[in-house]
Amino acid sequence: MDISTYAAPLPPRQSVVTRRLAVAVGALFVTGVIAAAVALLGIANKLDKEEVRKTEFYSVRALENRITASKNYITSYAYWTTAYERLSDQVDTQWAYTEQNLGNTLFTADGYDGVFVLDRERTKYAVVRGQMLDTDIAAFVEVGAASLLDQVQGQSDLTHPVSRYSLFEGWPALVSAAAILPNDERPQKTAQQTSVLVFVDKLTPTKLRKIGSAYGLKNLTLAPNETLDPARPRVPLDSTGFSLVSDLERPGQQLLWSLLPTLGATMVVLMLLTAYFFRHALRSSRYVDESFAVMQSYNLALEAANFGLEASEERFRAVAEAASDWIWETDRHLSLTYLSARFSEVTGYPQTLWQGQDIGQLLFCDTTPLELWLKKLNEEGHASDLRCTYRDHSGQQRHCRLSARPIFDKQVVIGYRGTASDITDEVAAHAQIQHLSMHDALTGLPNRNKLARYLDEALLLREHAPALSLLMIDLDNFKPINDSLGHPAGDAVLQEVAARLRECTRDDDIVARLGGDEFVVVLNGMDAPNEIDKFCTRLIGSLHQPVVFEHHPLHIGASIGIALSRRHGFTPSELIRYADIALYQAKSEGKNTWCYFEAHMSDQIQTRRQMEDDLRHALKHNEFILHYQPRYKVDGKQIVSVEALVRWQHPTKGLLGPDLFIPLAEQTDLIVPLGRWVLREACETALTWPEDILLSVNLSPAQFAVTDVVEDVREVLVDTRFPASRLELEITENVMLNDTDGALTTMNALKELGVRLNMDDFGTGYSSLGYLRAYPFDGIKIDKRFIASISSGANDRAVVQAIIGLGKAMGLTVTAEGVETAEQLDILGADQCNEVQGYFMSRPVDKTEFMGLLQTSRSGQAAQPKAKKVGVRSGLNLEGL
Ligand code: C2E
Ligand code: MG
Ligand code: MG
Repeated sequence: MDISTYAAPLPPRQSVVTRRLAVAVGALFVTGVIAAAVALLGIANKLDKEEVRKTEFYSVRALENRITASKNYITSYAYWTTAYERLSDQVDTQWAYTEQNLGNTLFTADGYDGVFVLDRERTKYAVVRGQMLDTDIAAFVEVGAASLLDQVQGQSDLTHPVSRYSLFEGWPALVSAAAILPNDERPQKTAQQTSVLVFVDKLTPTKLRKIGSAYGLKNLTLAPNETLDPARPRVPLDSTGFSLVSDLERPGQQLLWSLLPTLGATMVVLMLLTAYFFRHALRSSRYVDESFAVMQSYNLALEAANFGLEASEERFRAVAEAASDWIWETDRHLSLTYLSARFSEVTGYPQTLWQGQDIGQLLFCDTTPLELWLKKLNEEGHASDLRCTYRDHSGQQRHCRLSARPIFDKQVVIGYRGTASDITDEVAAHAQIQHLSMHDALTGLPNRNKLARYLDEALLLREHAPALSLLMIDLDNFKPINDSLGHPAGDAVLQEVAARLRECTRDDDIVARLGGDEFVVVLNGMDAPNEIDKFCTRLIGSLHQPVVFEHHPLHIGASIGIALSRRHGFTPSELIRYADIALYQAKSEGKNTWCYFEAHMSDQIQTRRQMEDDLRHALKHNEFILHYQPRYKVDGKQIVSVEALVRWQHPTKGLLGPDLFIPLAEQTDLIVPLGRWVLREACETALTWPEDILLSVNLSPAQFAVTDVVEDVREVLVDTRFPASRLELEITENVMLNDTDGALTTMNALKELGVRLNMDDFGTGYSSLGYLRAYPFDGIKIDKRFIASISSGANDRAVVQAIIGLGKAMGLTVTAEGVETAEQLDILGADQCNEVQGYFMSRPVDKTEFMGLLQTSRSGQAAQPKAKKVGVRSGLNLEGL
């Protein structure tokens, strides 16, 4: 919480208020002055405009009066019968000038500067400034005589005079003209024939002053337009180029000039006074502010102190209530004096129940007495936290982490206080992690870590340690289940195996899972072979029981390798390694068996291990090749079929025959990928050969057991588009030995694919004849052992004859393999064997060579044992070497 939200809101500072007031009043004052000035200027302007308007009006009126007077005056002369008579034709100058009827009095008395009588032809009479002259009017007046005559004579009523302004001797003058008409009833002349009387009234400054003064105009005068200030008010006199002007009074400006100084002075004084007033006010308010600030800082300091105190209390309350920890205090005798509210929430006890009780009765620490730990604080002041346990109100054990500090009063410890954090969940999580790190998540059995720890502890005393027998168990047939039915099935099997292993063992023994399908059983205090054998029998028997998964019985088995601590090793790693070697041996001896470790196994197994690694490597790096051995009709000439035989192009050991690696591949399940490769490679190669040549591929019994051989074959046929009818699979009797029913199902399924089945190595098994009847074979291959001896002993020949007879009787194609001599071939021909295969006709050769053999066979030549010998190292013999 911010202190400002806690303290009372501050009043605005006085100096600020005063300053704002001063600004407001100043602004108001200035506004008032401006408004007054604007109003004043407005009035003055209005007055001046009015004055101008009036001056113009009166100027116009004055002139109009003059014009009217002039018109009236000229009418009195022109509309007069006597004047008509005396002036119309020839001007009677006697009457006009001499007798003063139209003489110089018009100038001297009436102020007319010119008097003229005109007609269309000439100026008949002219008096200029009182002097009669014989000159044309045009010499004095700018406006032409014709124009004046037109104007006067053009009127409908000729008695009306006309007036206009024109220059007279270069100065504006009022020119009045009227037709000279009789004022009796006599017949009149036409307008054009009338004479016109013209009076010229030169508007001299004197005359104008006089006219103006009659209208209150001062200095009314005329001035040329171009000499006038454009802004000066005027009344223009038609086209004369002159305007009438007069001096203006300008009452507005007079008003301004009379008021402004007084007004200005008043304003200045007022402003000075206001400024003085505000300055004073500002000073006073600043003083008030300063005093207030001092007060305020005192208040703030006080409020801050209060706030700090309250915040601290609030914080403590919040921490004490919101924290998962509870707070405790004891006196120096370790009796609880305070427990925070959280205590009851966490422990379920009311606080009062424990207040006054000894803290040692509530909390317990198994590593150090609580009292001692607290007393140690007296010397050191602090100690690392202590983990304690206690029983909560419901009786459940909980864990807490205790922290403590001594409470001092004048350097004397008067008690202790601290917090207790509940860490029950943390401890449980830790235990869970511990458990997980030591146990297999799937089966809950101890894992490799836990086993190692157990063995470490158990074997620590070496020869004094209890006798331990370590059994390494590997499940047989687990991988196919996992692969074909998926992980849920695999998991179910592993869980069931774990349960059965636990059932078979005692509490002192340990059952662990190392990973995959590898388990370990350590029998504690048991190393007598007969006892172990019994145990193994029981174990294998138990594991042999099918595991039911989703109503399907799954069959597994187990191989066991055994190492004994007293005989074979005292370190855990040795024990595990020896048991592993023994297990390897057990697996190679056939499954569902157990084997004790023996020293000689080590090397043998080492070699096999190396071989196995090499085999894996070979598969990855395509080190295998196929050789092909043809099968002929019994005449030994016509190739009808060809058998694919695998070889290993070993990087260091040369070309290896199948006897050297097929058994190992079978034991390690590497036979599955190898078998797939052989089938695919053979089909792809055979596609290039004539369609009537069959292809034989050997299938290992192990392939039947660990992979879905039907699916494998189907996939290759589909992928390579090799016709199933051209494919023949060679199977030995061992297939039937392992799983009689399963083998039959598989073979039927294979037959359904459309392939042929041949029984290989016939005669080497146990109950061959029985199988022949029960299984869907298309042919048999009599084992080469019988063939080798047919030419030497009558008995063997009889056996071969019987087999041929039996096979034929059952509709099977009978092939004799291992034909090495012409004699053997002849005998077989005589005994009506169907087909033959053997070194005599051809050894297994690579595919290029086989193409050559095919061509020879097709061209009808007899096959000769001339095919190039390919050196193949074999387990039994070194072919061709
Ligand atoms: P098998 O299927 O009975 O093949 C015949 C074996 O006899 C071949 O040996 C062949 O080279 C040999 N052989 C042929 N004619 C004569 C002869 O006139 N005299 C003698 N002494 N031997 C003859 P190979 O190639 O060493 O094969 C050995 C066995 O390895 C095969 O016996 C077969 O069971 C197995 N094999 C070979 N290739 C494969 C394969 O791709 N997959 C599987 N699963 N097994 C294979
Ligand atoms: Mg074969
Ligand atoms: Mg064979």
